[in-house]
Amino acid sequence: MCSIVGIASGEKKQDVSYELYNALICLQHRGQDAAGIATAGPDEKIHVKKKKGLVFEFTKKNLNHLTGNFGIGHTRYSTAGSSKIENAHPYIINYPTSIAIASNGDTRNYNELKQFLHNQGICLQTDCDIEVMAKLFACQYLKSKDVFESVTFLMKKVIGAYSVVCLIQNKGLLAFRDPYGIRPLVMGQKSSQDKSFMFASESAPLDIGGYKFTCNVKPGEAIFIDRDLKCNRKMIVEKTKKAHCMFEWVYLARPDSDIENLSVYRSRENMGKIMGKIAKSMNYVDPESVVVPVPDSGRSAAIAFAEETDMKYRDYIIKNRYIARTFIMETGKMRAKNIKLKLNASQGVAGKIIFLIDDSIVRGTTAKQIVKMLKSKGAKKIIFVSACPKLISTCKYGINISTKEELIAHGKTVDEIRKEIGADELIYPSLDNLKEALGMDELCMGCLSGKYPHNAE
Ligand code: SF4
Repeated sequence: MCSIVGIASGEKKQDVSYELYNALICLQHRGQDAAGIATAGPDEKIHVKKKKGLVFEFTKKNLNHLTGNFGIGHTRYSTAGSSKIENAHPYIINYPTSIAIASNGDTRNYNELKQFLHNQGICLQTDCDIEVMAKLFACQYLKSKDVFESVTFLMKKVIGAYSVVCLIQNKGLLAFRDPYGIRPLVMGQKSSQDKSFMFASESAPLDIGGYKFTCNVKPGEAIFIDRDLKCNRKMIVEKTKKAHCMFEWVYLARPDSDIENLSVYRSRENMGKIMGKIAKSMNYVDPESVVVPVPDSGRSAAIAFAEETDMKYRDYIIKNRYIARTFIMETGKMRAKNIKLKLNASQGVAGKIIFLIDDSIVRGTTAKQIVKMLKSKGAKKIIFVSACPKLISTCKYGINISTKEELIAHGKTVDEIRKEIGADELIYPSLDNLKEALGMDELCMGCLSGKYPHNAE
């Protein structure tokens, strides 16, 4: 998971660096390892700046140097390639022209693509798949000078999940999305008078930047905004079935974003409601019990769960807002240490039966520590409710779940997981419950089922 943003401003004299910075701040939750911005104006070379860590690392001086009315930005969460600064996006290529490119996703055939480029006499300087994508695109662009032909060539070669923004010197801004639409990508426009465009991984930056949502970039589609702000669209590859990552709604995206026209907040509420119905059918509901969310991503489901079951809702777990997202930290040690700093429980839990609602249970690090913490504060009983089915397999599309063994649910029954996290009861939804909550079945559920979109080809 990373985030991308691209802006083409109608005001030729207006630098977009501050707008890109603000959009990246909105998307910070999708990647904390590094951030990068590339910009260019008419007849200008591409300027680029990358920083390790959070978007806040950019200074006013950095942004003032990034001149130009077209630009792209990225926040990085390392899955392919290490988190060193050379691997941060945007990646710049200077032949056959200057191109800056940034992507969200992961290629599955990296070694094959590397070999293909090697056979063409093209060397790689990083171990990051964005360089491979940039060089594939450039390979075809050198021959055809046509952006759509170059994307077609890239899409034929690359297997995986990718949403991409690309700034081409003196040409314009290009955005495209893999044929399954695994990672999200939306487009917005300022107004009919101000023709500025924005592409972003989620819709929240459009709202904040004053852009009106226009559309989701379609799976397999490429959109090119030229220097005169003319919008050119082309379907490059059309699959009969899409496979949007279910984890975007479960955990990754901001609740105020819409993904594929479905509100992330609403989808989490739907899941809370469904879990409330399941708890009722299991006769677990007791009016004296309390519903407590694991903040923040468990909150929308917990509110709906409490409404459905007529139980009291309490924010008994307090989150320190200055600690970064723990799921996307690189090592288990870092995650465990930061959960302690990040979450603490109020004394209000003493003597209570708690329905503890979380968006999902991935490695179990958070679940174990929270259950232990609530019990140490005197909670009488903990019924753990996961709003996502059991995660049993790896993610091959840009989420940092590289081995099955790191997943607490892999190879275990619900009761074995319950014992391991120390809860008194544990409730999971089914895959069908999740599809019902999202109101669609064109989903990637690879990490829940072991069946991945590309395996079906
Ligand atoms: S495997 Fe899981 S996390 Fe990865 S893209 Fe598919 S649904 Fe999303």
